[in-house]
Amino acid sequence: MIEQLRQIEEEALRELEAIEEEDRLEAFRIAYLGKKGRLTAALKGMGKLSPEERPEAGKTANEVKSRLSGAFEARKREIEDRKYGAGQDLLDVTLPGRRPIRGHIHPITGVTREICHIFERMGFRIVKGPNIELDYYNFEALNIPKDHPARDMQDTFYVSENVVLRTHTSPMQVRVMEKQPPPVAVIAPGKVYRRDSDVTHTPMFHQVEGLLVDEGVTFGDLKGTLTAFAHRIFGRDTDVRFRPSFFPFTEPSAEMDIRCVICGGSGCRTCSQTGWLEILGSGMVDPEVYGFVGYDPERVSGFAFGMGIERIAMLKYGIDDIQLFFRNDMRFLRQF
Ligand SMILES: [Zn+2]
Repeated sequence: MIEQLRQIEEEALRELEAIEEEDRLEAFRIAYLGKKGRLTAALKGMGKLSPEERPEAGKTANEVKSRLSGAFEARKREIEDRKYGAGQDLLDVTLPGRRPIRGHIHPITGVTREICHIFERMGFRIVKGPNIELDYYNFEALNIPKDHPARDMQDTFYVSENVVLRTHTSPMQVRVMEKQPPPVAVIAPGKVYRRDSDVTHTPMFHQVEGLLVDEGVTFGDLKGTLTAFAHRIFGRDTDVRFRPSFFPFTEPSAEMDIRCVICGGSGCRTCSQTGWLEILGSGMVDPEVYGFVGYDPERVSGFAFGMGIERIAMLKYGIDDIQLFFRNDMRFLRQF
């Protein structure tokens, strides 16, 4: 019995030495160490031995088995190391890689950048200012004194008596003109705040403000600049029109409409059957405002405009609920 075991061991080790491929390694394991292997078969013969012979044979059998298992594992490791490089963990390079989920820019950020880029190419510079603003910049210096009815139009969040969450990006007009002499051509994107919430309003939303002041700037420059903008963002075939309007810090003032992107002008719910959609407010800077920043209204003139970015994004992508932008629903965000 013991003789037989030693012979199996000897043969097995010799065979193992000659193995170079992984699949032959498995065949070896089955042939010697498997349930129906030679070693197992030999152990089954143990019952025929006399009680005196059994302990010695059992001991030898266990030793042979453990030596063969050890030699098998060592050989296996050698072959794998040669294949994949020594000292490395097993790595199947043929497996497809795990793709990390790639994020992308939020539609509001994307539209903001697009708008800014269009004006940057026309020579406007991007400026940014505080969200928590002095009453002076948000209202006073924009020709909206304390008792002015326009203050009621903008449901303001007051931080204290003279500090507000800015209700529009227009304070940047004053802040910029205060710091530099004309000519000025700036665009100011940012968050604004109003106490308002429904399908077209949120308490926080985004605006882009624009200001151009120089000698000899006319209403024609305003129309040309904003028409070029509308054509870039909504397509060059987009019809536009200007309607007289009122803002305390521009005179004359105009709102700009584009032909309804939903119905093409025949009238629908989105455009309230008018065929037109308002996209921004604009006007020639009121000479009163120049008084607050030390510009000479006899020498310079200019125009300003402001638009809601959510509104532009809603029209551009045909979205009818502004709240979708802020719910962070992946099903919505993945579409951009
Ligand atoms: Zn329409």
